[in-house]
Amino acid sequence: MPKGKLTFEHDLCKGCGLCVEYCPQHILYQDKKTLNDSGYNIVSVSEPDKCIGCAFCAMMCPDSVIKVEVDK
Ligand code: SF4
Ligand code: SF4
Repeated sequence: MPKGKLTFEHDLCKGCGLCVEYCPQHILYQDKKTLNDSGYNIVSVSEPDKCIGCAFCAMMCPDSVIKVEVDK
């Protein structure tokens, strides 16, 4: 199973939640305690080891916040 490594441009996030909704592993969440410069809750990963590198999150994001590197 491939593994994915995520990096976020947190300040570009507008908090739409699409990445959270479409992650098949259900490992993304909106961090209610952390706001970016625009006042939106940033997205974080609960269990990074479970990321399969599918990049659905990056594809769904309208603001190119998420970069996925795949380790095959
Ligand atoms: S790459 Fe796939 S499994 Fe990993 S966080 Fe994004 S949607 Fe979830
Ligand atoms: S899809 Fe992009 S803009 Fe929307 S919550 Fe996720 S990271 Fe933020």
